[in-house]
Amino acid sequence: MEQTSTYKLIFLYILLDKPKMLLRPSPFPSISPLPRSLKVSAATQSPLPPKKTGVTIIGGGLSGLAAATHLQADNIPFVLLEASDNLGGRVASDKVNGFIFDRGFQIFITAYPEAQKLLDYNNLHLNKFYSGAKVFYNGGFHTVADPIRHFPDAISSLINPIGSVFDKVLVGLTRLRALTLTDEVILTGDEIKTVDFLRGVGFSDAMVERFFKPFFGGVFFDRELETTSRLFDFVFKCLALGDNALPAGGICAIPEQLAGKLPEGSILLKARVVEIDVEGGDGFAVRLESGEVVKSELGVIVAVEEFEAAKLLAGNVGGGIRVKKPVRSTVCLYFSANLDMIPVKDPVLFLNGSGKGIVNNMFFATNVVRTYAPPGKGLISVSLIGLFDDVEEGELVERVVKELEGWFGERVVRAWEYMRMYKVGFAQPNQCPPTDLMKDPRVKPGLYVCGDYVTNATFDGALVSGRRAVEALIKERVRVDS
Ligand SMILES: Cc1cc2nc3c(=O)[nH]c(=O)nc-3n(C[C@H](O)[C@H](O)[C@H](O)COP(=O)(O)OP(=O)(O)OC[C@H]3O[C@@H](n4cnc5c(N)ncnc54)[C@H](O)[C@@H]3O)c2cc1C
Repeated sequence: MEQTSTYKLIFLYILLDKPKMLLRPSPFPSISPLPRSLKVSAATQSPLPPKKTGVTIIGGGLSGLAAATHLQADNIPFVLLEASDNLGGRVASDKVNGFIFDRGFQIFITAYPEAQKLLDYNNLHLNKFYSGAKVFYNGGFHTVADPIRHFPDAISSLINPIGSVFDKVLVGLTRLRALTLTDEVILTGDEIKTVDFLRGVGFSDAMVERFFKPFFGGVFFDRELETTSRLFDFVFKCLALGDNALPAGGICAIPEQLAGKLPEGSILLKARVVEIDVEGGDGFAVRLESGEVVKSELGVIVAVEEFEAAKLLAGNVGGGIRVKKPVRSTVCLYFSANLDMIPVKDPVLFLNGSGKGIVNNMFFATNVVRTYAPPGKGLISVSLIGLFDDVEEGELVERVVKELEGWFGERVVRAWEYMRMYKVGFAQPNQCPPTDLMKDPRVKPGLYVCGDYVTNATFDGALVSGRRAVEALIKERVRVDS
């Protein structure tokens, strides 16, 4: 966005005699502190909805927080209304008795371009994974290593059964190809299903089944790899350029960092929006479940999940938002163990390349981030693709334990203590072709959308979408007001 547009907008704002709305502390006392796990300054939240603001943001996931960050940078007052009692949306962690449980297996790729602009990596205290994976196949583990970062491992893995030597050369060529493409070309270029793309490149069935399906299936929560090749290219490029990492404070440290920089009184938790009115003569209004109404001068940014946007925007979007099915789901199980029952020390991801069983991937979280468990304990994270909603919790735990006994031995796995399970029904929207990963955030004058379904279902996609919604709002307001 051009700097001049921003100044122009602020100037118009002051001309319109609205200086009272420019950033300032909330006049209301704090009555509903944030949970301890979310280290956002309590001053950030407003206990009561303001009657009027500059922009109303609905939803406090990464996209809503990114939108708020950009509005703040442009000195545009806003209020962010979040339905739950937590910020971060799907990027959340629970901290219990010294353990950190991310709500589902999530990894931050340091090369995400938008994240690099918005986040302070030093303060996230990122801990890296090994660049590669150990694939369980035919009763044993086989290493797949990034040849640039772990050259000796890559050489010694050339002749393992996870693909042929030719497959491993192809990985290098596919990487080179992705690196030569700009993100825009990747996200708007030709697309097919990822599985068809991989076969078209010439990867063998063994490589697709034993490595790509568990690895990228775990990224997209889509074991069949029907997700668009655009997203494969984008993630593959980011993996080539950066590291897989986790913050020392849990994945929730990412939204916490964004929220912690927002101005006083700008966030309202437990504030579910049930109606949006952008047609009234007196600015734009949203109605909360509680009945209260928040009006905004410049517009409304809807930063909720796709299915929720479809409900909230019904009547505002011609033809409505069509939610593509199936949406992507996952189950994440956590176990803890004494450190002598953690069979490896490497910060590596384990993949199920056997073609059997229900486990897709797992890792010893405390091998990557020591702070994920109290001293003397290890934390184990196991992920399944799909929701398994017809399987009882106890039965699912038993099936996973039995399966992992085949990986690490009965003595080790039976010593693990089951901690908890997260069944995430809506982890990501369906991103099968045809996709539009650069949707127009403008719904109508004063109404904008952001969220991973508007761009792509990664942390980065959500952050980009928040910025683009603010850019669209500012562009339109400057045009209208001048
Ligand atoms: C288990 C899991 C693993 C993942 N792994 C990765 C990964 O490894 N790497 C990666 O890049 N991405 C990953 N993702 C995807 C990534 O987390 C999401 O794409 C991104 O966080 C979506 O952000 P968002 O702001 O679009 O939506 P959300 O995070 O869903 O935020 C929407 C917010 O809107 C609020 N809301 C909804 N309705 C209302 C309403 N009516 N009024 C007010 N508020 C409302 C919700 O409570 C929520 O806080 C993962 C996702 C999950 C669930």
